[in-house]
Amino acid sequence: MDYPAAAYHPMQIMEKTASLVHRLGFSTPRRRAYLAMVGLTGSDHRWARYLQKYIIRPHCETLVDHFATALLANPEARALLSGEHTMAHLRTAQSAYLRTLGTSFGGAGYFESRLQIGHAHARAAVPLTLYLASYCQLQLLILAHVPATLRADPARYEAFVAFLLKITALDMALATETYHRSRVGELEQSITALRHETTQLHRLVDTDTFTGLANHAHILNVLTEALRRTGGAPLSLIIADLDAFKAINDAYGHPVGDQVIHEVTARMQAAARRGDVLGRYGGDEFIIVLKDTTLATAKTIAKRIRAHVGDQPLELDGRTIHVTMSLGVASAQAGEDADTFIARADHALYQAKQTGRNRVVVSPAVTQLVAHLN
Ligand code: GH3
Ligand code: MG
Repeated sequence: MDYPAAAYHPMQIMEKTASLVHRLGFSTPRRRAYLAMVGLTGSDHRWARYLQKYIIRPHCETLVDHFATALLANPEARALLSGEHTMAHLRTAQSAYLRTLGTSFGGAGYFESRLQIGHAHARAAVPLTLYLASYCQLQLLILAHVPATLRADPARYEAFVAFLLKITALDMALATETYHRSRVGELEQSITALRHETTQLHRLVDTDTFTGLANHAHILNVLTEALRRTGGAPLSLIIADLDAFKAINDAYGHPVGDQVIHEVTARMQAAARRGDVLGRYGGDEFIIVLKDTTLATAKTIAKRIRAHVGDQPLELDGRTIHVTMSLGVASAQAGEDADTFIARADHALYQAKQTGRNRVVVSPAVTQLVAHLN
């Protein structure tokens, strides 16, 4: 017969919310398997009743006292149990534990109470070794209170000892189960926290802290990875550089120059599409990686960025600052590596600077370049 778990919740330390039987998968077949593992059978219920009637109930207080004394002899246990409140709590818990030991041991309620006890000890950071070792004290104490009539009958005494070992083995096995489960739970939590930290760290390592864009190393990685994965799809690149930025620094001071970079970053982001990866290549120079984008589309976006940055002057601290940007655009050639790709976009940017700034220049395809050079 299965008893409701509440009937076996004598201890305040129990966690009442979740059923451990359910969470740890102690279905009827699994409980049966557990009982079989420790060798408990239906005939043992008789011994369970004997244990309660002739040993626990008549001697419960003495057993609890002796158990507490034995426990306090252990320095590790003493450290854990320091404090009057803890000792009183232990006595109450131990008494409740003893008064239910073995009663209806096959039911879900019994398993729940035993799992909860293990769980509570695990949460109280009682070492598993200490917890399991204390069972030995308990077994010895119970054996010391076996009535003389039973001792006088060796066969029955042996059967009782066997029952006591089995019923305590069941509790020890269930406690170990909950200890491991709590450990796994803790480890899972640390793994989640570490994953989160790792993601944050990656973000930090990859980010240009000043603008929040991808930094130099990261944007190069993004480009290299995009080149590796194009699979025949178009891939374009824009290199953009502020025009005469030194003059802005000279005229308004470095802090205002910083604000300009921030403002320009925001304008570039507004002009780019979702999925375009913006990076700060260094100083006032930026790279935009445009996946699945043809040269013509990249040119349109580059023009949009130029217009966003340069068409309206910036208003910073009551000052009107005119700032423009030159941009070079290139589309990846088959088999091209990142260096060559960037070099071509950079060459287009150079031409934009040479031909008057505040403009977009598109890099011709390598084949056209070769034809031009010839
Ligand atoms: P060009 O049109 O040829 O690009 O002229 P430029 O003056 O912009 O020249 P260049 O791009 O070579 O120089 C960029 C300057 O930007 C040099 C450096 O002092 C300044 N700079 C780089 N990083 C920062 C920054 O984070 N803040 C500020 N305020 N200035 C920076
Ligand atoms: Mg510049």
